[in-house]
Amino acid sequence: MATDRLAEVLTRYEAVIGLEFHTEITATKTKMFCGCPVAFGGEANSRVCPTCMGLPGALPVPNQECVDWAILAGLAAGCKIAPLSDFTRKNYFYPDMAVNYQLSQYQPPFCYDGRIDIEIIEGADERLDRETAENVTMTEDGYIAAIRVTRLHLEEDTGKMIHIGGTDGRIGGADYSLADFNRSGTGLMELVTEPDIRTPEEARAFARKLRQLWLTLGVSDCNMEEGSMRADGNVSIRPRGATGLGTKTELKNMNSFKALHDGIAFEIVRQADLLDAGGKVVQETRHWEPTEKVTTAMRTKEMAEDYRYFPDPDTAPFDLSAEYVEGIRARLPELPDAKKERFMETYKLSAHDAGLLAADVGLTKFYEEAVQIAGLDHAKSVSNTMLNDLSAHLNATEETLETIKIAPAHIAELVELVDSGEISSKQAKEVFAAMLEAGQMPKVIARERGLKQVSDTGVIEAAVDSVLAAHPDKVEAYRGGKVGLIGFLVGQVMRETQGQANPSLVNEILTQKLK
Ligand code: ADP
Ligand code: ZN
Ligand code: MG
Repeated sequence: MATDRLAEVLTRYEAVIGLEFHTEITATKTKMFCGCPVAFGGEANSRVCPTCMGLPGALPVPNQECVDWAILAGLAAGCKIAPLSDFTRKNYFYPDMAVNYQLSQYQPPFCYDGRIDIEIIEGADERLDRETAENVTMTEDGYIAAIRVTRLHLEEDTGKMIHIGGTDGRIGGADYSLADFNRSGTGLMELVTEPDIRTPEEARAFARKLRQLWLTLGVSDCNMEEGSMRADGNVSIRPRGATGLGTKTELKNMNSFKALHDGIAFEIVRQADLLDAGGKVVQETRHWEPTEKVTTAMRTKEMAEDYRYFPDPDTAPFDLSAEYVEGIRARLPELPDAKKERFMETYKLSAHDAGLLAADVGLTKFYEEAVQIAGLDHAKSVSNTMLNDLSAHLNATEETLETIKIAPAHIAELVELVDSGEISSKQAKEVFAAMLEAGQMPKVIARERGLKQVSDTGVIEAAVDSVLAAHPDKVEAYRGGKVGLIGFLVGQVMRETQGQANPSLVNEILTQKLK
């Protein structure tokens, strides 16, 4: 779908988006209410027991570690913690759930009233009117939007249906379906935002930030493709300037950040087309079709009362003391926002660069290890090399920080070579490419390829003199005002020195001698 179409629609309508995330707690060895192991895949129904299969007489026992993780996650999302809460039965039938209810939480959830800030740097075309919103702070190259978190609660995951005989594993057209309860009963955190999000770009930024937060805590592996982190998008639109809420649709099956962005973008345009044609949006759940890049109607939306929520009589209510909550709070690691601040302070990085490095646990670790080796003086250069050369490589290939052949020590040594003037920044590009290819250390590569930079002013002066002597016409023209000729002369000196002269010294000496 053309992004110009979205941009056009957003000049007339404002999108209102609220997100819901289900994230499996993969940090615990066992499930939420039984002792079955938590894992992905494996032979169907190989990790089940009477409790997660809902056999008569089996009783759930809450996993304290799951509760601890949910509270930790809620605190990281800036939430308050309810002193009194319980597990609630959410009643409905579906064959992927062996008991006809899901153990979940209703009112109150463990965690509520939180806030997560997102930063938007790109996507300026979708930025319409954001500067006037009260939850938005403009920055040098974008803006920060504070998104309210309604709640975070704990529940159990369901099993999975496997549809046989249709296309793409979809139920439509399938011959029969099988149920796999391996996932059934895995601890699941549900986080719901207020409808504070206004663009597909913001929705994606929120999802990225949340994943970052969960990865920093270590509560989940957040694998969107395997479904350990799943996002639903609630989308409505209203004419720009209006304040009421339009009818929303809920989008499912967005298994990547891109799908989340594209699904919401499609839905905004679809709703605008409906309204433009004098029609109405129907409140319903819609399915994102990644191949066709459209959303299709799945079912009309059920209401809370349809679930007949009531407190689960099999599990005791929770009475969380302030002391317990503070104990969990003490376990909070440094979170991405705080890390960004520290990077600006300690490493003297720009807000932009610090934000990029702090936004990814892997990048952060790699960066800090490289600076540790290279020393604080090189912190800025390490950041530049990682955010430019290394990020470009990661973006252009399937590689990740785990699969690349280089370690922080490689980057550290490379920036030391450049910062000390031993090789030029142009030569560094060659060394960089070579070390990614073979994993050799930069010094070895530079030596083998004869890459070095001549900073000996005597040598450079001699080369400059010979170039000036060989091109008296150019020298005269330069002195006559054709200052652009300096580029030609620098090029000649570089040629004379087999490309090894330090370009800034060449420039300096040339300018001096041409006066
Ligand atoms: P439901 O009854 O469908 O569960 P909720 O009020 O519980 O609706 O909200 C679910 C999600 O939908 C939340 O993320 C909320 O922010 C979002 N939401 C609610 N109303 C709207 C709306 N009119 N447009 C967009 N999102 C909305
Ligand atoms: Zn079990
Ligand atoms: Mg709801």
